[in-house]
Amino acid sequence: MHIDANDLPQQIVRALQQVCGQGPVALHEPRFSGQEWEYLKACLDSTFVSSVGKYVDRFEADLAAFTGAKHAIAVVNGTAALHVALLLAGVERDDEVLLPALTFAATANAVHYCGAIPHLVDSSEDSLGIDPQALRAWLGTTARREGGVCINTRTGRRIRALLPMHAFGHPCDIDGLLGVAHDFGLVLVEDAAESLGSWYQGRHTGTFGLLGTLSFNGNKTITTGGGGAILINDSALARRAKHLTTTAKLPHRWSYVHDEVGFNYRLPNINAALGCAQLEQLPGFLASKRHLFERYREAFSSIPQVRLVAEPQGCTSNYWLQTLLLDAGVEQRRDDVLDATNTAGMMTRPAWELMHRLAPYAACPTAPLPVAESLARRLINIPSSAGLA
Ligand SMILES: *Cc1c(COP(=O)(O)O)cnc(C)c1O
Repeated sequence: MHIDANDLPQQIVRALQQVCGQGPVALHEPRFSGQEWEYLKACLDSTFVSSVGKYVDRFEADLAAFTGAKHAIAVVNGTAALHVALLLAGVERDDEVLLPALTFAATANAVHYCGAIPHLVDSSEDSLGIDPQALRAWLGTTARREGGVCINTRTGRRIRALLPMHAFGHPCDIDGLLGVAHDFGLVLVEDAAESLGSWYQGRHTGTFGLLGTLSFNGNKTITTGGGGAILINDSALARRAKHLTTTAKLPHRWSYVHDEVGFNYRLPNINAALGCAQLEQLPGFLASKRHLFERYREAFSSIPQVRLVAEPQGCTSNYWLQTLLLDAGVEQRRDDVLDATNTAGMMTRPAWELMHRLAPYAACPTAPLPVAESLARRLINIPSSAGLA
């Protein structure tokens, strides 16, 4: 087969091979090189594998210490964390919640679970997260404040919360978003599922909003198999989060009294045991992922039509998923790049389908999305495991 040396897809394959070797290479693999076996064995030996046990308490304390959040409540997955965080933020049926169109479906699904409606907004090319300037301009034409409440003038519904997401681990412009939330009377909740180990101006993502959420799914920076957490600075709210996620049962030696409809969202002790071992390795994972970014940057520096996404100014990213952006001039080659790289055993993926293009969210209120649409056409995630560096 003849291969044109200037062919963009083949250039990208070669750059990936230069960093990753011949492959096959996964998009993101977990790494269990610490105390996992020891803690899992101790957990099994104790018989406390399920809803109580010391690893849950330890994992929550370790997460709080790492992130600087006052409280961390461990739950079954990141989607459940978002669901409860939105309920605690006061999101009610028929409210609207502002979130980026460029996100994973879980962000919108959690809003839907509350009976609320996702209101989709545009992203910035710098952070890949919600663009505060575009949001402010959009709300200026679509919303008004009425007695401290933000009303969508087109739908008549209350806009309750602003739910940014730190895409692929890159912190979004939190100061800008806090300003918009303040001026329009919105509660800020952060979907930090992808950004454990990412800081905005020295403070950990997920700790700026009233609540923030993490995910420990198998493809995230650390994993508990399945798992998530809610980060909260307010102690009363943290008690509510614990109560709601543990079936809202009142503590008692034998009776089963539940004072509201709660959720069975507590993280099992066996998953928390894995989490404790993973969290111990997080600083090493972060260093490896940063090193991998540097190696990719070097390898892709000779291909002028692509840019590797770097952490925004003033931020430290965890580099969860490394991201290539094709220049607009070559965006029509994206599927050829996906085809060539996957054929060569280098697992690459396009951006998520934008939320307004998914059947369940097609009718949601949607701002103009010029940047998200462009990013979605040009974005490619490349192999990002900590073990590659
Ligand atoms: C992973 C992820 C979640 C939560 O996912 P779970 O699989 O439920 O843990 C939520 N939002 C975003 C943006 C994610 O990437």
